Amino acid sequence: MEKRKARFSKQRETIFNILYADKSHPNVDVIYQNVQKEIPNISLGTVYRNLNAMADEGRILRLDVGDGVVHFDANVKPHLHMLCSDCKSIIDLDVEYETVEPYIEEIQKLTSHKIDSAEILFKGQCFICQKKNS
Ligand SMILES: [Zn+2]
Ligand SMILES: [Zn+2]
Repeated sequence: MEKRKARFSKQRETIFNILYADKSHPNVDVIYQNVQKEIPNISLGTVYRNLNAMADEGRILRLDVGDGVVHFDANVKPHLHMLCSDCKSIIDLDVEYETVEPYIEEIQKLTSHKIDSAEILFKGQCFICQKKNS
């Protein structure tokens, strides 16, 4: 029993480390392909279950950008995302989350709701796609 448990948590650590190293907000299929390189006999279902369990624990983030696919992010610190409408990549914006806090405060004042956190998704063209198109 203990051995089984150890094997399970080792799988989970491997999945976490692979996601942590991947800043592209991959979906389960991409994560599965990379996990398979380290654990060849793992199933897609196992990878998916582990990701969801970690997301429920708050260890990783589930991300919905409206493309019908669930993306995962090992960076759980509040941060801002941008979705490129051309290459569809999800990019971490390298600005302090505090930048949007005055805006959130303003919304709280205007609506009287208490806001604990915000997931903000900016949409547009990333700088790589802008260069390609110009
Ligand atoms: Zn792009
Ligand atoms: Zn992110």
